[in-house]
Amino acid sequence: MSAPSAKDLIDSLRQVYHGREEFFLHEPIVGVSEEAFISSCLKEGWISSASAWGRKFENAICSFTSSKHSIVTVNGTSALHCALLAVGINPGDEVIVPAISFIATANAVSYTGATPHFVDSEDITLGIDPIKLDKYLSQETLPHKDGVLNKKTNKIIKALILVHTFGHPAQIDEIFKICEKYKLIFIEDAAESLGSFYKNKHTGCFSRVSILSFNGNKIVTTGGGGAVLTQDQLLADQIRHLSTTAKVAHPWEYSHDQIGFNYRMPGINAAMGCAQMQKLNEFILKKRELARMVMSALKNHSAVKLITEPQNTRSNYWLITVKLNTNSLEERNSILKILHDEKIYARPIWNLIPNLPMYKNCPRMNLDTALDLEKKVVNLPSSAFLVE
Ligand SMILES: *Cc1c(COP(=O)(O)O)cnc(C)c1O
Repeated sequence: MSAPSAKDLIDSLRQVYHGREEFFLHEPIVGVSEEAFISSCLKEGWISSASAWGRKFENAICSFTSSKHSIVTVNGTSALHCALLAVGINPGDEVIVPAISFIATANAVSYTGATPHFVDSEDITLGIDPIKLDKYLSQETLPHKDGVLNKKTNKIIKALILVHTFGHPAQIDEIFKICEKYKLIFIEDAAESLGSFYKNKHTGCFSRVSILSFNGNKIVTTGGGGAVLTQDQLLADQIRHLSTTAKVAHPWEYSHDQIGFNYRMPGINAAMGCAQMQKLNEFILKKRELARMVMSALKNHSAVKLITEPQNTRSNYWLITVKLNTNSLEERNSILKILHDEKIYARPIWNLIPNLPMYKNCPRMNLDTALDLEKKVVNLPSSAFLVE
């Protein structure tokens, strides 16, 4: 994009981003109800994870998502770590992870001693490309009782983590079928998609186990926090056990039957989460309106396209994501620079995980689409309060 057309882009975006000094990528909305709930948690004296606020927050999550079980944790990464352990991911296993995701998805796999195996994404949903994956697995793997055997590494690919990127649901049905076909444990990383539905069912409720994040920049925040969702009672019990110190229930004795992780969310954070959950529907409406405003502002810019919710889904539009018509990182960066100079702090998509030093030797398929998206995808400031 040439400098004059970048100027033109700024002028259009100013229809949405005006009336403030600075526009950060995503700021939380916190008000009197958060203060009131936290303050009553403090007054009750039960402020640790033993507080009743943890169970209240879990109930609010279950009631919003219709998930049977939810276990709240200190962050989304720890939720994913527990989830992977509970479904039986062991050292030496491989787990399919999209090259396009936040680093936490791959890190949680690494914590278990397993290796992430990176796969490509598709253009429209920014989620794992099911057609490419099916073809790849049929060529590169052999059947195995616990998944498939990677012919190159001789390791077992045991599970797949599907990420709903920037809040937009991926092709869940198609990926589910592939998991059935190759006996892969299906896991959803729904950290970004609280409030996003696929065929009228909440994301995160399609898989054996899934996770949410309540980090400061997510649609609902507890400062830091996460949750595991599952529809399976035994798995829920196991995850809850692992997320504590794996203490055997007893009125006074300290006895533990596993190595637990002490990942439970403190009551203070859960109290904040309860207040935030009451506002979730309002947040979603505002974000969807913001997306509409950006789309309308960009309608005359053929070089910039808003990523919209895929068919059969209702997205939370956690981030307002656009695709620039460019094939160079330099050009992408020069547009980011112009936006930053205007104090519109847009951010690029993540650097691809498999290119980072810790992951550069991990198995991967051809990642052409991810590499292309890396040069094009930018997130615009997306705070819900921009819509008033
Ligand atoms: C935010 C996020 C997580 C979890 O992050 P935490 O900061 O640990 O809560 C995991 N996966 C994705 C895709 C995320 O965006």
